[in-house]
Amino acid sequence: MPSRGKLIVFSAPSGSGKTTIVRALLQKPELNLAFSISATSRAKRGQEIHGKDYYFLSPKEFENAIQNNEFLEWEEVYPGQYYGTLKAEVDRLRDHGKNVIFDIDVKGGMSIKKNFNSEVLAIFVQPPSLAVLAERLTGRGTETDEKIKLRLDKAHEELAFAPSFDHVLVNDELALAINQAQDLILNHIQ
Ligand code: 5GP
Repeated sequence: MPSRGKLIVFSAPSGSGKTTIVRALLQKPELNLAFSISATSRAKRGQEIHGKDYYFLSPKEFENAIQNNEFLEWEEVYPGQYYGTLKAEVDRLRDHGKNVIFDIDVKGGMSIKKNFNSEVLAIFVQPPSLAVLAERLTGRGTETDEKIKLRLDKAHEELAFAPSFDHVLVNDELALAINQAQDLILNHIQ
């Protein structure tokens, strides 16, 4: 029987470029990665697609999934906005021999690490500075000023978790960060 895939967690403050790095890594066949699609109770943004970016659930559906013990981990990442990793999603991908990559918040990342220990490579993507982070969030143009402020406040909290991760990847120059991430993953999956 082929061995089950490994787990690679990417966590970071929103706007640190983590999602861009994860997308680039998913394009590299030698890493054999599949994205763990999370469930969320937040509304769809822009071009997002149900079953590709997230499984978009109503608050009631999300609550039911919690009650039914369907999550490996879940967090109220922002007030009233729930996000969670579904057990069935991770099992499905691992059963196909894929290495599973997660784009989840720092607390979720730590839960996965605790659950699966050495099977997990946990990478914290750090923005070069909070000023750069604020610029990136504003430039994205998808959120209101109030939401951006919420995200920056949260970034302060999240940066404190960096030392608990296996690696801190500073995303100053994107191409370099992607290469470094690729090397870390190759090393972990061998
Ligand atoms: P966004 O709303 O920008 O898509 O995501 C907001 C935050 O929720 C990001 O930090 C993202 O990584 C995190 N997130 C996405 N999915 C999950 C999940 O399944 N579990 C946890 N704990 N956080 C998640």
